[in-house]
Amino acid sequence: MNLHTLTIAQAKDLLDKKEISSVELTRAFLDRIDKYDNTISAFITVDRDLALEQAQQADRIIAKGENQAFTGIPVALKDVLCTKGVKTTCASKILENFVPQYDATVVEKFKAQDAVLIGKANMDEFAMGSSTENSAFFVTRNPWNTDYVPGGSSGGSAAAVAARFCSGAVGTDTGGSIRQPASHCGVVGLKPTYGRVSRFGVVAYASSLDQVGPITRDVTDTAMMLNLMGGHDPKDSTSAPEPMPDFLKGIALFKEQGLSGMTAGIPKEFLSLEGIDPEVKTMFENARKTLEGLGVDIKEISLPHTNYAVAAYYIIAPCEASANLARFDGVRYGVRDMDANDIMEMYKKTKSKGFGLEVQRRIIIGTYSLSSGYYDAYYGRASQVRALIMDDFKRAFESCDIILSPVAPTPAFKIGEKIEDPLTMYLSDIFTLSCNLAGVPGISVPAGISSTGLPMGLQMMARHFDEMSLIRAGYGFEQAVGKHPDPPEL
Ligand code: GLN
Repeated sequence: MNLHTLTIAQAKDLLDKKEISSVELTRAFLDRIDKYDNTISAFITVDRDLALEQAQQADRIIAKGENQAFTGIPVALKDVLCTKGVKTTCASKILENFVPQYDATVVEKFKAQDAVLIGKANMDEFAMGSSTENSAFFVTRNPWNTDYVPGGSSGGSAAAVAARFCSGAVGTDTGGSIRQPASHCGVVGLKPTYGRVSRFGVVAYASSLDQVGPITRDVTDTAMMLNLMGGHDPKDSTSAPEPMPDFLKGIALFKEQGLSGMTAGIPKEFLSLEGIDPEVKTMFENARKTLEGLGVDIKEISLPHTNYAVAAYYIIAPCEASANLARFDGVRYGVRDMDANDIMEMYKKTKSKGFGLEVQRRIIIGTYSLSSGYYDAYYGRASQVRALIMDDFKRAFESCDIILSPVAPTPAFKIGEKIEDPLTMYLSDIFTLSCNLAGVPGISVPAGISSTGLPMGLQMMARHFDEMSLIRAGYGFEQAVGKHPDPPEL
């Protein structure tokens, strides 16, 4: 049996039946990482011994019959989640040696079920980027074609799932960083509703937009992971005291009722945008037909402020980032530059050497936009636009249950293609940003392969806290399109 090909649900079933052990499963992934991660570069840190120790512990729990959903399941974590005693770098030189004293709540939840934390995944530095090229350490490659980016910023997590280096992975999504790499790597990625999953212990990029979520092989695994990760956390004041349903019910719902009675909206502004690859358009048209075939009532809707989303996001996110990253000054946090004569010089050298160019760019844009005299013109304006975008979604969801769009305007691009041109890079986030600005949940489900052999994802968004509809429709869609092909063998 090829253990690395198992989904979380399949692996759990075999672990429960004691047909495989967690040590065997973990070894299968570790062996693949040993063999192929020098090509893909999905991981910043892999602690083989620690992973095997956790797997042995899981096997002891399973022997006692005390297993829970994730006992013995090997999971990768984006390197932005604090892990007690294990380096957490945010793919930044400034945190190169940072070893947290505590676990993020999400990490605690995996540990409480004796999951195996197989490694810390590469990312764009501080989650700023769409290609993982902004990692201070190395570029992650797309397992479908190693000349291409895996997307970002959770590119290491998505590539690790696609390359079968782990059963599932955790990412974060501030403007698309779970959905877009999932789309580019042919896996499923879900950004939960803002407040659904605790951000405690997750190094903050833009606090009003950041959400933690799953990246998995299929929608069933996404539901399982959301079940584990979600829920109110008193340690995060922005976490919502909302009830946590069993998201696997979304799958049962589909099995009982299909998608009949569900209404989906397609924003007319999305498809008239410039720069959408014809193959993405075809993929989207086919996806629409598939959903229609499943009984979904599809209608045109309007999100009138779509055109302002990129501009608003690229002010709000850098503003929040400039405040959040102020703590990395070589005094409170961060590797201090010792070659300075006074404190100002120390700050300057620490930040110039510690932060990469994109992070510096965001800090400068954010600081400028928040400075007195410019605050109203930039941050104030962008916040007003955000309110309008939220209203757009509220109104749209009066007439539909889910909103459909492509995840990205093009399939994955070549490594190096956009990195010199930040504006083009920012524009490629057009379909994913509004979801974060509005705080609603969004999922990316594999929906086709381009003629160049690269995957493309369909995005579905739903009302606040209605991830259930995304699981139901995502599962239905997945069943209808049939098994997604695996990436070519590495
Ligand atoms: N690409 C967007 C950015 O660079 C989104 C990143 C994210 O979701 N973390 O900010």
